[in-house]
Amino acid sequence: MSSLFDLSGKVALVTGANTGIGQAIALALAQAGADVAVAGRSAADETLAAIRASGRRALEVRADLSSTAPVAGLVAQVEVELGAIAILVNNAGIIRRTDSVDFSEADWDAVTDTNLKVPFFLCQAVGRGMVARGQGKIINIASLLSFQGGIRVPSYTAAKSGIAGITRLLANEWAAKGVNVNAIAPGYIATNNTAALQADETRNRQIMERIPAGRWGAPADIGGAAVFLASRASDYVNGHILAVDGGWLAR
Ligand code: NAP
Repeated sequence: MSSLFDLSGKVALVTGANTGIGQAIALALAQAGADVAVAGRSAADETLAAIRASGRRALEVRADLSSTAPVAGLVAQVEVELGAIAILVNNAGIIRRTDSVDFSEADWDAVTDTNLKVPFFLCQAVGRGMVARGQGKIINIASLLSFQGGIRVPSYTAAKSGIAGITRLLANEWAAKGVNVNAIAPGYIATNNTAALQADETRNRQIMERIPAGRWGAPADIGGAAVFLASRASDYVNGHILAVDGGWLAR
């Protein structure tokens, strides 16, 4: 049974893995056997040490993923240093919260570039090799706002709704070529990204009351879903947006 989820010999690339959900995914993939490259704009020393402590190779590539400029070089460096990328996790993301009447074009562009445009072009750059090899696993990090409207986060909702659409589109194009493209939609997970919500007493209470599991998620709660979507266990899962949300969407 465990071999279904075994990632030994696979190379994974995870973006934004110095902290939060990306870090937890990188560690879960390493614990399942993958060598892991992490790409981001901040030092990821803690993540690298933990990957190596689980006996796997780790590589850090520093890249500002707010534009497509580093994409080609990043993919080439990982493939030269670790080998062909078998698993891509598009996790890096930002959020900007402002009432829609005041929302700026700069906040629109920053969020849609980082959360939608760059992930698509990373899918393209890594996906080319995967399609040529006839195998690969792509996992995009979506959101509850891939399903719902949200409030005060127009560019984030647009980007996360878009990433769900792109996930389905690429699944349609690549499923028959051996490449699985899926997404994880985390619920409310305690990270830097949600620090403002956690600190807002009223919003925090409203959120907690609505989560059937009765608690915020931890980054580690996302790891199992990532291993599943990265492994042979999900070979017939295509274009799916897997909510890991303590039941939020069921309510
Ligand atoms: P986080 O702790 O803020 O992590 C975000 C990661 O993205 C960090 O590693 C960050 O690096 C990186 N990043 C942001 N902008 C970047 C850029 N321009 N270039 C390179 N890396 C960049 O938040 P998180 O909650 O773990 O978020 C991870 C993903 O999950 C995001 O896509 C987020 O939208 C999604 N998500 C989170 C939740 C939640 O409840 N937390 C729910 C649904 C979806 P720095 O440390 O350098 O900023």
